Formats: sequence, structure tokens, C-alpha cells
Amino acid sequence: MEKIYMIPVNDAYNETCGCPICRLRDKAENNYLEYYLGPSLMEPDTRKITNKTGFCPVHWGKLNKAVTNRLGLGLVMHTHLKDYNEDLNPKLKASIPAKAGLIKGRSSEYKQKLNNVADLIEKRIGTCPICDNLNEAMGHYIEVICWMFSHDKDFKEKFLKAEFHCLPHTALLLRQAAKLSQNEASEFVEALYVNNTETFDSLISDVEYFTLKFDYRNTDKPWGTSKNSIQRSMRFLSSDGRDFDEQQSKKQS
Ligand SMILES: [Zn+2]
Ligand SMILES: [Zn+2]
Repeated sequence: MEKIYMIPVNDAYNETCGCPICRLRDKAENNYLEYYLGPSLMEPDTRKITNKTGFCPVHWGKLNKAVTNRLGLGLVMHTHLKDYNEDLNPKLKASIPAKAGLIKGRSSEYKQKLNNVADLIEKRIGTCPICDNLNEAMGHYIEVICWMFSHDKDFKEKFLKAEFHCLPHTALLLRQAAKLSQNEASEFVEALYVNNTETFDSLISDVEYFTLKFDYRNTDKPWGTSKNSIQRSMRFLSSDGRDFDEQQSKKQS
């Protein structure tokens, strides 16, 4: 089993709050963001890739927020725009439908051409080297987590103590568990089940309490753990925490 993935996995599980796999993802993602704004952008091989792909909408946004290297971002953007334009411009021009006369020259061929150019644009929007690298790294991490659960007693303890595994990462763990032997999968999935059920139960009760707080009879009762239960539920449901900041809850008090 690949040791280079074990250290970050152990680190992520040393903390007990939130989903450890989200922590792994965030850390890896930050490394890739730094990589693409770091010296790599002067390397012709990397630039060949980013000229073609650019980044997905999420990662353009994150690169924009990471203000470490504005010049680098400008250089990457410049050559990406040029590449995109060289690719798209002639195809877009060729797709302009010829004006048809009343009788002659009508053809539905232009429809296909227009759809082809739309396909090209949509395909390019979705391609992103950070997403590709991240998906590959996550694949290794998930594999290592399942392996360590069955082979490393200390790690198993930590896994059982995790506050929760968010649902998207639970799905990844289940897919990996489907590759284990039946006995290994049995223990692993039972641990996931317990973790999952406890999380659902506590969130359901906290969110219910949150709603009850809006009843005037409960105004003076303490918020307890319910105050940020909406944001915690969002993190559990969807893993990505970008917009789930708890400032929103503070406005309610
Ligand atoms: Zn997660
Ligand atoms: Zn991306």
C-alpha cells in the first residue's frame, strides 16, 4: 500500500471534527491551487495543458481568491484565451448559417453545426487539471482508508471516532468497500452505518430544535447545538463547505 498517502490520511483522522475526507480533499486542492499558480506555470509542459483546458468554474473562482500570484494568473489566462480563440473562432465562423432563398438553399445542416460548436464550448468548460488531479488523489486516499481500516488497529479506532463522513464521501467509501472481501466489507460498512445513523439522528434533532426556536414561546430557550445545524447539515449532505459559513446563523439571534 502506498505510504505517501498514509501520512495525510492519518493526519486527517487525527482531528475529530467534521468529515476527515473533506479535510483531505481541501488540503490536496490547496496544494494543486498553489501548484498551478507556482513555478509550474513557467514549465512548457504544464502550460501546454492549461492552455488547452483552462480551469472549471469552481477552480477559476478559487484561483481568483488565491491572490498569491496575479501575474502568473494573467500569464495562464492570456495563453489560454489565445488557444481557446484559435480553436473556437474558425468553427464559430463556419457555423454561421447561410441565408436561404425562398426556394433554394434550405438545409437543416446548420443545426448540427451549431450544436457541434455548443458541444465544443461545453466540453471545454468542464475540463480542469485541478479536478483531474484531485479525483486521482481522492481515489488513492479512499483506497488507502479502506486498506488501513482492515490492517491498522490504531487507524480503525480513529475511523470509528470520526464525527461523520459526509454523504458524497460515504458514497466513495461504499464503492471502494464493494471491492473488498465480504468479511472485510462487513466490518467496514457496519462502522460507516453506525457513524452515519448517529449523524442523521443528531442533525435531525438539532434542525428540528432550530425550527422550534422560532416559536415565540421558545424565544428565551438557549440555542444549544442547534444554532449552526443548518450549515452542519449542508456540509454533511454535500461535502463542499464554500458557502456554508455560519455567519448566516448569527443573523438569526
Ligand atoms: Zn467529506
Ligand atoms: Zn476544477
